[in-house]
Amino acid sequence: MTKTLPLYGAIEGGGTKFNCAVGSGPDDIRAEIRIATTTPEETLNQVVEFFKQQEDAHGKLSAIGFACFGPLDPNPASLTFGHILPTPKPGWTNADVVGILRKHFNIPIAFDTDVNGAALGEWRWGAARGLQTFIYLTVGTGVGGGAYVEGKLLHGLIHPEMGHILLDHDRKKDAFEGACPFHGDCFEGLASGVAIEKRWGQRGGTLPADHPAWELEADYIAQALMTYSMTLSPQRIIIGGGVGSLGHLLPKVQIKTRDLINGYIQSPVILDHIESYIVNPGLGGRSGVLGAMALAEQSLKTL
Ligand code: ZN
Repeated sequence: MTKTLPLYGAIEGGGTKFNCAVGSGPDDIRAEIRIATTTPEETLNQVVEFFKQQEDAHGKLSAIGFACFGPLDPNPASLTFGHILPTPKPGWTNADVVGILRKHFNIPIAFDTDVNGAALGEWRWGAARGLQTFIYLTVGTGVGGGAYVEGKLLHGLIHPEMGHILLDHDRKKDAFEGACPFHGDCFEGLASGVAIEKRWGQRGGTLPADHPAWELEADYIAQALMTYSMTLSPQRIIIGGGVGSLGHLLPKVQIKTRDLINGYIQSPVILDHIESYIVNPGLGGRSGVLGAMALAEQSLKTL
């Protein structure tokens, strides 16, 4: 006799595409689809259509997990829960994205940031299994971080914006003024894929591993990781994203972070095993969509 597992709808909502899946976990994915991010209605209606088709084939969904680009309102008690907050992305400011799903599905819909979702996915199935406090940082087109603190995802006032902290920016070494429309040379403004391309005049993916871009990039990431280490005391930091996942970058970031901490945090994981303190995602590029699935699963447990 086979046990019937609850079936979840997972949505990883990104700025250029929505990755969606239906299944019960990483070993039971029934179908996946990639949908271009256009307008909220057009994009979400395609998601609804995909989920409805899958329900016809496999049975009803038990819950939906939606991990989305932000800023957004993840607080179920708030009047604007499920909305995207003001964003430079045209057409998405104040969009009630959960409301569009709600019209078609009367089941729990968990909604959180893409990075909080990815953090939960890594906790459930990836590189953060068994941990109580850790950070998932993505460095890609943008920079953002999700935090899992003392056994749950951190939201606080709205949600953390770890990409927008200020770093030490030595303009003699790096004259680039920064690319963040709000803060100029914040972490994202200096270290995102967009910043790399603007600074060097070519995409990060085309720069060789020995290009000076990567020493600078590792310097900025290490400064941020030092700050997170001091403020949240994570047991581990996971770095994903198109830039953050580059294999040649990780060892530089590990060593520079350890050097910046400079022995102040007296833990063997930092002093002797920095390679297990700062790691790439256990789920590779699947943290996002599986994270959305983990959000759906968790929504049933917290009912
Ligand atoms: Zn910023």
